[in-house]
Amino acid sequence: MLQADIFIKKVKFESLQLNHKMEKYICAQCSEIYPTCCQIKQECTEYCFPLSEPEIEKIRKKIGTDDFYAQEKNSNNFIHKLISLLPEYKQKIVQLFPPNGTHYRLRLKDNGKCYFLTDSGCDLARDDRPFYCQIYPFWIYNQKITYFEDKYCLAQKKTKKIGHLLKLFSVTIDSIEDNFNSMITALGITK
Ligand code: SF4
Repeated sequence: MLQADIFIKKVKFESLQLNHKMEKYICAQCSEIYPTCCQIKQECTEYCFPLSEPEIEKIRKKIGTDDFYAQEKNSNNFIHKLISLLPEYKQKIVQLFPPNGTHYRLRLKDNGKCYFLTDSGCDLARDDRPFYCQIYPFWIYNQKITYFEDKYCLAQKKTKKIGHLLKLFSVTIDSIEDNFNSMITALGITK
């Protein structure tokens, strides 16, 4: 996930069962049809979610290069977007991302695709991806699970119900919360 969409849909958890079929992971299926959430328009680069030092270190150890991230200015649009996604952490965000500073983000190719995006999806193992990539399209907003509406998300073409979506992505509320908390800690924006 590179850029969080503007709308956050508040949803209730519904525990519904899905049939499990042996098929490609939903994001790999999506990458065969759509640009995916791992490709953005060049003019939206400033909105890319920040990458923390621990995440950079982890990926660097895996792939052995520093080519995969870039430095980006803390534009006003970036700061406002980050606060809108994490309103509970506003004070810390303002401290850590001042308007004259910079942050790191994933590097994009010329076509706006993430450095790691291939024709068959993300090149990184799931556990090695940045935390927000492991969380997306889910999010924790005011301590409740929700998800970003994305018209190009294949999973959301299949269902809008969060219980179904969790199963399609093979995640649980607990795993989303764990990754969300790890992301907050890695970014240093704990309250
Ligand atoms: S690291 Fe992988 S999941 Fe994250 S934006 Fe890049 S291609 Fe997508």
